[in-house]
Amino acid sequence: MNIRCRKIDCKFNHAGACHAHEVKVCRNANCTTYQKEHGKVDLELASELAPTKPHNVPLACTMGSCLYNHDCRCAANGIAVVDNEDTNQADCATFIER
Ligand code: SF4
Repeated sequence: MNIRCRKIDCKFNHAGACHAHEVKVCRNANCTTYQKEHGKVDLELASELAPTKPHNVPLACTMGSCLYNHDCRCAANGIAVVDNEDTNQADCATFIER
């Protein structure tokens, strides 16, 4: 799964692409794999300038009310994760209510 992610301070984020071994998205459509890396520069990089290619990351998702969710597997071609500044969590922006 190609995961574009704007949670730039996550230790698994490499220039806007997720490089975690596995990503879990929970019932609130949050990425629970997110781990803040202290001291990481909170710098936004345009995806066209990203020096690394997107990674194929296994994704498990328990957001059962999402249109793309089939038996805890995401059927989307890729997902986008955004920085929720109110909660300081990483939210799946591809979620569509069934
Ligand atoms: S917040 Fe989640 S999707 Fe984004 S880089 Fe970190 S682990 Fe990957």
